[in-house]
Amino acid sequence: MKMKAAVIREMGLEQPYEKSRPMQIEEVDLAPPGEREVLVQIKAASLCHSDLSTVNGDRPRQTPMVLGHEAAGVVVECGPGVNDIKPGDHVALVFAPSCGECIPCREGHPGRCEPGQQSNAAGTLLGGTIRLSQNSEPVYHHVGVSAFAEYCVVNRGSLVKIDEKLPFDEAALFGCAVLTGVGAALNTAQVFPGATVAVVGLGGVGLNAVFGALVGGASQVIAIDVHDDKLELAKIWARLAPSMQKTTTQFNRSRT
Ligand SMILES: [Zn+2]
Ligand SMILES: [Zn+2]
Repeated sequence: MKMKAAVIREMGLEQPYEKSRPMQIEEVDLAPPGEREVLVQIKAASLCHSDLSTVNGDRPRQTPMVLGHEAAGVVVECGPGVNDIKPGDHVALVFAPSCGECIPCREGHPGRCEPGQQSNAAGTLLGGTIRLSQNSEPVYHHVGVSAFAEYCVVNRGSLVKIDEKLPFDEAALFGCAVLTGVGAALNTAQVFPGATVAVVGLGGVGLNAVFGALVGGASQVIAIDVHDDKLELAKIWARLAPSMQKTTTQFNRSRT
């Protein structure tokens, strides 16, 4: 199918980007989903700093590429071997694909999936396929997602089914900022009830680490940043903390 997507061809262009325009809206081809792949209509996609790190060249990737990895949408079509989701399901797209079969996946660390990291580095979907093209030349996938587009084809291991009541623009954040920040607090730091936690840097990931620390039951969270407006955002999280107690209880119960 033909669709519109934001394509980057050259990294490290001069700022301001509104003048150098590192991404252009172009027509590209999207192949149908193959084995264990899913076609998703993108409903919301946010701009993560990892997208900017590719735009400014700090984190070089293959080009041409369609960026965008923090997104949510609706399943349109499932390829062979996808039996646990169906067209119409709402999904959050995830920047860390997981195969479910490698050692880190089997040990409960899907974020460290080895084939997932290899395919992300290669600019392909998990499994090595490329479904984006233009004039029969490949257009690379950004961390298995490529969400700055009308549609995307992703591996089944790059999406999570979500509650349909969750607005798409909020669900999108779960694919990167929430996953990374809350995961850092609950899984990596293993915040426990009563813990004291310091979070340095309050961007999308840091604020979600604050959120994760509160959900984990931390009694004191010290949020650190040089920007006053971000500290204010962290205080808003803290004020929400009492209303999170119910969530915390439910969460802890579901973990045990
Ligand atoms: Zn991101
Ligand atoms: Zn794996």
